[in-house]
Amino acid sequence: MMDKEELLSMCKRRGFLWRSAEIYGGEAGFYDYGHLGAKLLDSWKQKWKDFFLGLDENYHMIYTNNIMPHRVMEASGHVDHFSDIMIRCERCDSYFRGDHLIEQETGENAEWMGKEDMKESIKELELSCPDCGGDFSEPEDFNMMFTVSLGPTGQKTGFLRPETAQGTYINFRREYRALRKQMPMGLATIGSAFRNEISPRQVVFRKREFLQAELQIFFVPGIHDEKFKKKYQEIEEMKVNIRREDWDETREVMLKEIDDIQPFYLYHLGKMYEFYTDIMKLSSKDIRFRELSDDEKAFYNKIHFDIEVNFDTLNGWKEVSGLHYRSDYDLRQHQENSNQSLSVSTDDGKKIPHVIELSFGIDRNLWSLLDKGYKDDDRTWLDLPKEITPRQVAVFPLVRKDGLPEKSREVFDKLRSDFRVTWEKSGSIGKRYARNDEVGTSYCITIDYDTLEDESVTIRDIETTEQIRVEIKELNDILKELIYGRKKFKDHMEQED
Ligand code: ATP
Repeated sequence: MMDKEELLSMCKRRGFLWRSAEIYGGEAGFYDYGHLGAKLLDSWKQKWKDFFLGLDENYHMIYTNNIMPHRVMEASGHVDHFSDIMIRCERCDSYFRGDHLIEQETGENAEWMGKEDMKESIKELELSCPDCGGDFSEPEDFNMMFTVSLGPTGQKTGFLRPETAQGTYINFRREYRALRKQMPMGLATIGSAFRNEISPRQVVFRKREFLQAELQIFFVPGIHDEKFKKKYQEIEEMKVNIRREDWDETREVMLKEIDDIQPFYLYHLGKMYEFYTDIMKLSSKDIRFRELSDDEKAFYNKIHFDIEVNFDTLNGWKEVSGLHYRSDYDLRQHQENSNQSLSVSTDDGKKIPHVIELSFGIDRNLWSLLDKGYKDDDRTWLDLPKEITPRQVAVFPLVRKDGLPEKSREVFDKLRSDFRVTWEKSGSIGKRYARNDEVGTSYCITIDYDTLEDESVTIRDIETTEQIRVEIKELNDILKELIYGRKKFKDHMEQED
């Protein structure tokens, strides 16, 4: 089983991610992405956009502000309710999330607990400070938003957004008109969110500044969701791992067996699952949907499933994204507080649209790729989806003389516009393979003396370490076939035999 520290050490050493402001000792809850991490992030974002915006012609990207005016976050309910329960050690003054301490002790989710339940439970379990053994203070609410002052006097305040969603809701009316009142309408956004987490931990899993990719779909139930009926029928036999709120275990079921949830929601649930299996290439045994109970979910969420991944480095199942049916709560709140109509016209009169939200925490998703991909058996290698991996191809000259470096630069230049590719000449070939295996380079191309004679090169496959020999003129096409899954490496090997 992969150890968190070992994976993090590779990430730091090789340019994926590390603590922000490291040279000053760092600050809990902040991480930066290095050159490989940034490439991984960019390709994941691109795949996310291609996949989810591709679900309907009326799903679009927008970008909105990080700083939200006070009134917006008041209307959304965050000023009054966006809090976690904090407990403080009376001896060493350390702060903890009460539910997390209880969860660690019992193995049971404790997010649903209020202050009174928590006080009781801490007493019953005889919990004390994990740092010094001291006693805890009374549980208290802690609002997790970062306040920012606006302008020179500091009298006006706003908030760093704790989720990207509100920026989308407040732009609903403008986009509805700009898009000529087509419904259902999907508005997606990717950007930073900020939460003053009480105890940031588990590398990028609980950060204070993190990245979200969210798609908000606006529709009037019974009217606009009809459009997806046919699309849903095409996937209704798809099997997903799911744990309903009242089940004791996860079961594999067909979407159509979940007959108490409307097809519009199930269609997006199926597509999220497909994103994890087909695009992120996670094994279905490592992913599941978990339905939240009424105690756990926000009161306005009619249906709430989290997607969870079974992490090796983070002790098991953890939330990476969610699918929320938020009813008409959001637009209703903003309509009431802004005094602007956010309703749409239907044959049945004016209606406030409802929202289905697909919400992904990007950092957690990237960590799941690293966690599931990092293999340390007879060699260390990173098994990432070839379309997402930060480095798809590496090109090496076998030796640093006799014209091989120059020839390999030619090959490198030929590949650059089609792939994420690097050129390396230092160290032995074995070391170069090992370095590239560790960061998930799908294919290594070696230029040797034969190349100068017959214009052919070797391609080495990261998964099997097998090699094939191909002509340079065919190289781009063959790599495309391999990376985009049109042909397998072993098919090429069989062709050679
Ligand atoms: P949690 O219960 O773990 O605090 P949440 O249910 O509050 O998360 P949401 O508000 O649903 O999370 O946010 C959507 C997504 O944003 C989550 O599924 C997660 O991937 C990501 N996310 C939330 N909080 C953080 C954080 N502090 N650091 C990194 N990612 C986060």
